[in-house]
Amino acid sequence: MSNHSFDKQVSPETYICHGPFDPDVFGGVVNPPVYHASTVIFKTCKELETRHQALFHDAEDEVMYYGRFGTPITFAVQKALAELEGGHRALLVPTGLAACTSALLALVKTGDHILVSSSVYGPTRGFVNNVLSRMGVSATYFDPTIGAGIADLFQENTTVVFTESPGSQTFDIQDIPAITRVAHAHHARVILDNTWATPLFFKPFDHGVDVSVHAATKYIVGHSDAQMGLITANEETWPAIRSLVYLYGLHAAPDDVYLAQRGLRTMALRLERHQASALKIARWFEERDEVEQVLHPALPSCPGHEIWKRDFTGSSGLFSVVLKPGYSKEAVQAFIDNLEYFGIGFSWGGFESLAIPFNPVKDRPEYRWPYQGEAFRLQIGLENPDDLINDLNNAMRHLHNQD
Ligand SMILES: *Cc1c(COP(=O)(O)O)cnc(C)c1O
Repeated sequence: MSNHSFDKQVSPETYICHGPFDPDVFGGVVNPPVYHASTVIFKTCKELETRHQALFHDAEDEVMYYGRFGTPITFAVQKALAELEGGHRALLVPTGLAACTSALLALVKTGDHILVSSSVYGPTRGFVNNVLSRMGVSATYFDPTIGAGIADLFQENTTVVFTESPGSQTFDIQDIPAITRVAHAHHARVILDNTWATPLFFKPFDHGVDVSVHAATKYIVGHSDAQMGLITANEETWPAIRSLVYLYGLHAAPDDVYLAQRGLRTMALRLERHQASALKIARWFEERDEVEQVLHPALPSCPGHEIWKRDFTGSSGLFSVVLKPGYSKEAVQAFIDNLEYFGIGFSWGGFESLAIPFNPVKDRPEYRWPYQGEAFRLQIGLENPDDLINDLNNAMRHLHNQD
């Protein structure tokens, strides 16, 4: 019952329960234990030499060498996630943002030009504009719906395309297969922030992506109690990713890796609930008179739905709602302030529902947002969806009560 690898015969849910954790290695204990480690003792100087050779020259994984390079629980979670994503190898890093920035740093050099989706996670944009720019890397932001039209934006020195589909506020779905085809024709590599879809609902490497990054903080950890990032690479980009992460000294702390391992066990089950509840609530919003557009890619009324249907196998619990023009910012704030079961806060993917207003034009100067009304984003947690609908229904009165 142990140490399964993930072939296409086994469903992800079963694999998550049985592989690649091998209880035999841990005295029969069903979960890998947490190792608090800096020093790893070698029996002899010869053994030190052998492991040094294995880690740095033969580029082997899972070498016990020094705490920073991980311990058996890290290796087990990394292997499970690499297999679920369909990539070659994966590394855990301290935060989702560190996964985004390290993937970029691993693949660019001074003088390069990169293409970045305009819908990219805000702090990733901050890194591109404030850090990569100082290193002499220039960037062009592209319309996330550009598809194969991205060909027009390539320069001689374009080396990386950074995508995120859907964007986590405006939910634009990108034509990742079209973008990767064009990028590879230009010898550029494609990074995808796959946080929204999780390793279950979008298979980046089947669609030509070279490096997939995740805020494991969200659905993988799943309980709003740890930060974690994941970088999964294909065979070609793996050496560059591995080298950058090791040389930067990035290390996912063992207690947090344990929380990621624990979250992973129930991820598929939780996502079934997030998916069903979010769809139910999104459809409820579609019927409301106050609503201009529900931005949930699994709804046929949502721009980009056809591409979502073609490429994704499910949807998670995060979506946005755009109101008709005429409701003030204050009215939307009153609506959100009066929700009982929706916290006001960042992050998502946890057990609890969240709500936050947003304005996509503020930090995305090049973006054409087609709506005039106010917008807010909801993370649908694991509560009973009918309780959430009652809550939303009650609080929506505050949209009308303002003068
Ligand atoms: C939250 C988030 C990140 C950053 O993850 P942290 O763990 O909070 O650093 C990156 N990308 C997306 C799409 C996110 O939602």
